[in-house]
Amino acid sequence: MKSMSETKRVDGKDIWGLREAMRGQVMVPDETGYDQARRVWNGTVDRRPALIARCADVTDVQRALGFAVEHDLPVAVRGGGHSVAGFSACDGGVLIDLGLMRTVNVDADSRVARAEPGVTGADFDRATQQHGLATTLGIVSTTGIAGLTLGGGIGWLMRKHGLACDNLLSVDLVTADGRLVTASTDQNPDLFWALKGGGGNFGIVTSFEYRLHPVGPEVYGGSVAFAPEHRRAVLNAYRELTRKAPDELTSYAAMTAAPDGSPVAAIAACYAGDPAEGARLLDPTKHAVGEPLLDALGPLTYIEQQSRMDQGYPPGEYHYWRSCFLDDLTDQVIDVLVERASDIQAPPVLELIVEHMGGAIAAGDGAFAHRDASYDLLIAANWTDPADQDRCVAWARETAATLEPHSRGGYVNYEPDADGSYVPGVYGDRFARLRALKAQYDPHNVFRLNQNVTPAP
Ligand SMILES: Cc1cc2nc3c(=O)[nH]c(=O)nc-3n(C[C@H](O)[C@H](O)[C@H](O)COP(=O)(O)OP(=O)(O)OC[C@H]3O[C@@H](n4cnc5c(N)ncnc54)[C@H](O)[C@@H]3O)c2cc1C
Repeated sequence: MKSMSETKRVDGKDIWGLREAMRGQVMVPDETGYDQARRVWNGTVDRRPALIARCADVTDVQRALGFAVEHDLPVAVRGGGHSVAGFSACDGGVLIDLGLMRTVNVDADSRVARAEPGVTGADFDRATQQHGLATTLGIVSTTGIAGLTLGGGIGWLMRKHGLACDNLLSVDLVTADGRLVTASTDQNPDLFWALKGGGGNFGIVTSFEYRLHPVGPEVYGGSVAFAPEHRRAVLNAYRELTRKAPDELTSYAAMTAAPDGSPVAAIAACYAGDPAEGARLLDPTKHAVGEPLLDALGPLTYIEQQSRMDQGYPPGEYHYWRSCFLDDLTDQVIDVLVERASDIQAPPVLELIVEHMGGAIAAGDGAFAHRDASYDLLIAANWTDPADQDRCVAWARETAATLEPHSRGGYVNYEPDADGSYVPGVYGDRFARLRALKAQYDPHNVFRLNQNVTPAP
């Protein structure tokens, strides 16, 4: 592939041909709707594709990809557009936007859902909860299932039911040479292994088939928040909670800011089982470190649990996130978290979110590497005033650097930088196999706007 500056010009006749061939829409710069369609969740990303192909079906995906390859144009693929790194946008290339493909079909008897790649967590939960079923997805329901699942997919059900990718039964995808293939444990098993954590490196997924589990409609969850001077005590209490937690309980500790901007130390959780047992396990945390500032821990519907964080992450604001998996929440790690959290005073919203891993995650297979990590840490800088950018990015980078001696590598879906230097650390001992599979399925690195695994030579 040529570099972006060398890319061929696309003339109007060719674009007209693609328009005629597609059921969905094709948009070019200056057309009505183009500016809206090129935007992604992270407002720091401001890219202008040469054309946006809003695909309506698999054939559209094949045609748009074929067009990009034929014209030697970079390819960006968009599911829900929530890539923090902005990988679902590009300058001068073809954006293959799957946002029109939003159908979820549920087979309640066999507990299987088939979802198109433009589906969000909210779409999926709405369809599956009608049958009292669910599978692991992220904790903000506006996020796309596509990028989330392909990178692993951590969320409230993960300790009980594994990562989102562990619940995949099969995937249909369009490979770099335009073929539609199925990957599952029976068909193309190597490719299926790579798709469970390997991100968008191997093709454009047009359908995800997930295993479902009985969940809800009511769970015990929500969050409880304490004053910032209790940060250390909250982290200690959280460590105790997680060390004893059964697999039904997934919990996070967050050094963050309340909606009014005041700093808080919170514990958020979801018990994916009998709500009475959830209450028994979680209610003591309400009094672990004195009176809470906010007590929103209690019974709620699973749909509420899945969407209660949405308001904190609207589209268009500015973000820079980092992450690291941890073997343990040691006293030294807690020291760092307490020290780095002292900068939290919104705006901007600087957050340290510890996510309890373990449980069923260890039993999964696939490219997702850090299955035996005890915790994942999200270091999230979020701001609305461009003047805050340098300070926010520096805070996140310095925090990640301070934690480097404790880190096992980052989580691919939270990593923000395009340089790719973190990718070997993300995949650890899976990296060599992934590179070999990349050479097999995408030798020319057509799918490179992602946390890129370069083909093995
Ligand atoms: C507010 C917010 C909350 C989040 N919460 C969680 C969480 O709880 N748990 C978690 O695990 N992650 C979480 N994430 C991270 C999330 O998993 C990633 O941002 C993920 O990439 C989002 O998927 P998407 O489809 O919306 O992204 P997109 O931006 O559309 O795509 C992301 C990447 O996946 C590729 N891709 C997208 N669709 C396809 C496809 N159909 N086929 C092949 N490649 C494709 C893209 O090319 C790109 O490289 C969160 C992110 C945000 C912004």
